[in-house]
Amino acid sequence: MTAALGPPRHLVFLGPPGVGKGTQAAELARELGIAHLSTGDLLRAAVAEGSELGRAADGHMRAGRLVPDELVVEILRDRLRRSDAAPGYILDGFPRTLAQAKALEQFAQLDAVISLELDPKVLVERLTGRRLCPQCGSVYNLATRPPREPGRCDRDYAELTLRPDDRPEAVEVRLQVYEKQTAPLLEHYRRLGLLRPLDASGTPAEVAERLRRLLRVGPGREPGPGSPKDRRSR
Ligand code: ADP
Repeated sequence: MTAALGPPRHLVFLGPPGVGKGTQAAELARELGIAHLSTGDLLRAAVAEGSELGRAADGHMRAGRLVPDELVVEILRDRLRRSDAAPGYILDGFPRTLAQAKALEQFAQLDAVISLELDPKVLVERLTGRRLCPQCGSVYNLATRPPREPGRCDRDYAELTLRPDDRPEAVEVRLQVYEKQTAPLLEHYRRLGLLRPLDASGTPAEVAERLRRLLRVGPGREPGPGSPKDRRSR
């Protein structure tokens, strides 16, 4: 890791569906001033747009299966070329297969791979309790982050929805796909010396605190380059 030079800025968040990758990645990226790139979000946007890519991805996603490697690698490679990824990025949900990891090595160099770990029973609870705001994209969870008013977004009062792949049938497929296709990446990154395990149990705030300790960012630490909000006197 590059902690001595400031926080690492080229990160992958790895872990099963429901572990909280998206929540943690979004907050950390904001704090570090780097891009949060979720292939799930990119694909859902393509589906909503009705693009050719979206049409190709839709059926796979609804069923909880992976979208073919070529499509996902292409979408991610393009996204990494945009200027907001220049200061750094957190990849959330990519790579998910060994072939994707090998492809990534051709166009990116990682500082660390954070492996979020959680009891499988808690995963299922988190997935089936997840609710989304279709208007602003806020993510809630009935168990850990409920909206102030049941079924309504705190920000814009829109009616919250369930992601199609959070239905129990699709959840089961996603967990199996993770075990079979994505879990082998843990060994791959361990061998490369990049793997950093993180206990993902507890509240989002508790996990965020552990993550900051692991990466040595946040209050009491040296500010990284390009993070003006950390340049306050203490
Ligand atoms: P989660 O991690 O909770 O399963 P994501 O939003 O990351 O949710 O992904 C949702 C779906 O998008 C996946 O089930 C899969 O169909 C597709 N997807 C996302 N990232 C990839 C990827 N790297 N490779 C293949 N399919 C992907």
